[in-house]
Amino acid sequence: MKPRILIIYTGGTIGMIEDPKTKVLRPFDFTHLMENVPKVKKLDYVIDNVQFDPPIDSSDMDVAHWQEIARTIVENYDKYDGFVVLHGTDTMAYTASALSFMLENLRKPVIITGSQLPIGEVRTDGEENLITALQIAAAADRDGRPMVQEVAILFENDLLRGNRATKHSANNFDAFKSHNYPPLAKIGLGITFDADALQRSSSLPPLNPRYAMDPSVASIDLFPGMKESTLRHMLSAPGVKGVVMRTFGAGNAPTADWFVNTVKEAVDRGLIIVNVTQCPSGIVHPRYQAGDKLEAIGVICGRDITFEAAITKLMFLLGIGLPAQAIKKYLNTALCGEVTI
Ligand code: ASP
Repeated sequence: MKPRILIIYTGGTIGMIEDPKTKVLRPFDFTHLMENVPKVKKLDYVIDNVQFDPPIDSSDMDVAHWQEIARTIVENYDKYDGFVVLHGTDTMAYTASALSFMLENLRKPVIITGSQLPIGEVRTDGEENLITALQIAAAADRDGRPMVQEVAILFENDLLRGNRATKHSANNFDAFKSHNYPPLAKIGLGITFDADALQRSSSLPPLNPRYAMDPSVASIDLFPGMKESTLRHMLSAPGVKGVVMRTFGAGNAPTADWFVNTVKEAVDRGLIIVNVTQCPSGIVHPRYQAGDKLEAIGVICGRDITFEAAITKLMFLLGIGLPAQAIKKYLNTALCGEVTI
């Protein structure tokens, strides 16, 4: 039986072409993309595709697009062994995180990839990324079960858990990192999976999609010298129900009374605030008074979650419509490997 893979082409640099007049890159259709990767035919797979109409730059991704990708996977779940999502790199980690929450009980590979250079360019990284993503989506163990049973990002030499990944370089081919979790596979002469890092299960509970995402969230980046009025204004933005607060180091924030009181007022009003670090790697760990005060007033410790996963997890939990207490409980729980508890 040949592996059956569905490619979902959403847009991004991988399928873009340069406008001859303006020299600006814009998304182009899937046929153009596949014409530039004739090698795909050498894979003995059945490959079908669907595409966004029109394909988009991933800066335009929003909740409705995540729902469209999730629906496409759900509607085709039984027909295919795996899914490859072609996506712009800019917001890839957000989409990967969102899908990981929306596709509860996922047991098939959803491999997201793209490229830094368009597929039509001579030095493109898109060809290699696409072919490797297809091979990973088709990979099975000796018993025929999919090797990858989660949402992952394939880029250059690494397969990363989607909700642990971050775009760390705007220019390098090696564009994604997972600072707080090991790669699921290393790509070299072969594809070497890390059995301990992969989330796999032999039981097959039915896929349980949850499409609702409530984007009533915001983020606040702390910086030395921030004014009380600025913080107060941000914490009382109309309609905002949840905030990801990016703090210093191991989760530290000013200890001044005005800061602590302003945050406490917001928490007491019902705003859910999650504390994540501005550092690219490491864990929020209240070792200092500066971090401990936040915990004491009801700010939730984000531990080692990425910013992208924290924002989308909040949208997901708010989307389910859970009461605040339950949202706080699930923020302290790993739903699909997004945080180390
Ligand atoms: N702006 C592009 C996008 O995210 C960048 C890329 O694909 O690398 O769609």
